[in-house]
Formats: sequence, C-alpha cells, structure tokens
Amino acid sequence: MSRALQDGELVLLTDRKGRRYLVTLAEGQQFHTHAGSVSHDALIGGTEGMQVRTSRNAELTIWRPTLRDYVLKMPRGAQVVYPKDSAAILMLADVFPGARVLESGVGSGALSISLLRAGATVLGYEIREDFAQQAMENVTGFLGSEVAERYHTEIRDCYQGIDATGLDRVVLDLPEPWQVVPHAAASLHPGGILAAYTPSIVQAAQLREACEAGPWAGASTVEILHRGWHIKGDAVRPEHRMVGHTGFVTAVRRLAD
Ligand code: SAH
Repeated sequence: MSRALQDGELVLLTDRKGRRYLVTLAEGQQFHTHAGSVSHDALIGGTEGMQVRTSRNAELTIWRPTLRDYVLKMPRGAQVVYPKDSAAILMLADVFPGARVLESGVGSGALSISLLRAGATVLGYEIREDFAQQAMENVTGFLGSEVAERYHTEIRDCYQGIDATGLDRVVLDLPEPWQVVPHAAASLHPGGILAAYTPSIVQAAQLREACEAGPWAGASTVEILHRGWHIKGDAVRPEHRMVGHTGFVTAVRRLAD
C-alpha cells in the first residue's frame, strides 16, 4: 500500500546520473544541488517513485531509502560493514526473529541495523562511547525509536568477557576476535553460532586456530565478491570498477560440552 510522504520523513532523491541524496523532509525547506533546487513542500504528500523537476529542470526521483541506501550514506565514525557482507553475516550466523545476539564492536551501527531488521534482540559491546552513541542515532534514524526496546549498548571491552548466558549468536567486528572465543563459548548455548568479520585473512586464520582448542565445529570462512554488470543494449559486460576488497566472514558453531 502506498503511503503519502510526510513531514519529518527520511527520503532518498536520485538523479539521472545515479547520484543519491538522503534528505529529511521539512515543511518550508528547499533541497539544493548543483542541478537546481526543489521545495520539500512539493514532495510532502507525494508518493514514492514520483519524479519532480528542479528549478534548473533536472529530474529527481523520490524514494524511501532501502537499508543499503541508508548504510552507504549515514554518518560514520568507524568503518562500516558493507551491505554485501552484512547480508552474508545474516545468513552464515542464521539470524532469526527473536534471536538473542551479542554484537561487538558496534562502531557506526551498520551491522546492528541489519541484525535488528532481521528481528534479533541485540546487546552491543563497544569500547568507545562516541561510537556507541553514533550507532544508536544511526539505528533509530533508520528503524525508528521503538527499536531501542531491542537494542542495548554497553561501553565495555569484549576481550574482558561477555556478561550474558544462553545467547543464540555472537557477531564480531573488532581487531582481535580470537580473544573473544572463550567468552563466546561460555555465553552461547550448544548449537549457537559465532560469526566474525575480519578485513585480513591473517585475522581469520588466527580466529580459526583459536576455535580448534574449544567446543566448536563446522567452521567456514568466506569472501563475498560482488561484481556489478553494465547492461545497455548490446553492451553487456562487467562494470569497469569494483570494490576489490572488504573483508572475510568466518562462522563456527558451538558443540555441546
Ligand atoms: N560493524 C560496525 C563497525 C565496527 S568497527 C558497523 O558496521 O558499523 C570496530 C569497532 O570495534 C570500533 O567501533 C571499535 O571501537 C570497537 N572495538 C575495538 N575493540 C573492541 C573491544 N575490545 N571491545 C568492544 N569494542 C571494540
């Protein structure tokens, strides 16, 4: 069902060249680009997918942003997990509605948004207060303030331990995930999953080695290669540019004692 766009709503404007702008609609305001301006009042009350013309006759299309649009544009302190990797983490960690997930560090909250949107309840450990605050703002900015019922962050060093038991999943994006392996073993129930994102394969190998000593099985490490294709008439070929590297995702399951 299509709902009218409202004052205060976050929207995405795209132009014909593929440029994208995240804007919060506010009555009486103007949105400016080098391709001219458009008044927010011309957008409020309209519908997604609507096209408008700027003062300089450029065409803009208005959308509610997808999670991917939002994550790539939102303010960040820490480097975010990219959407292609968040998607893999959701599947490898098998995140489900109602899952109890410990996430550390939360950084800018990009991965938190995906975990929460998949229906998990997330306890986040982060050592930097400013990042934890930024994460909360980013999370509620996309999912709304009600999501705070399922999202709790604590200023804590995850290497020192996890103060929770009976967890379904532990999801890590921090420099030394192997330091968390014994804590994850103590906090996850049998069958629970530990997943970690690491930019370097050396980190992934060290994590895998740490898991060999404990109650873990079924380890896998993957890298997601995402190559876009240019498709226009007879010109059908890979895009010239791609993101060459982001990181590796390792997942492992906790055995019973
Ligand atoms: N996954 C996040 C980005 C995390 S960046 C996102 O998608 O937005 C890594 C974060 O781990 C940083 O914010 C850093 O402050 C935090 N961190 C590093 N060591 C930590 C530790 N020992 N305990 C908790 N957080 C830690």
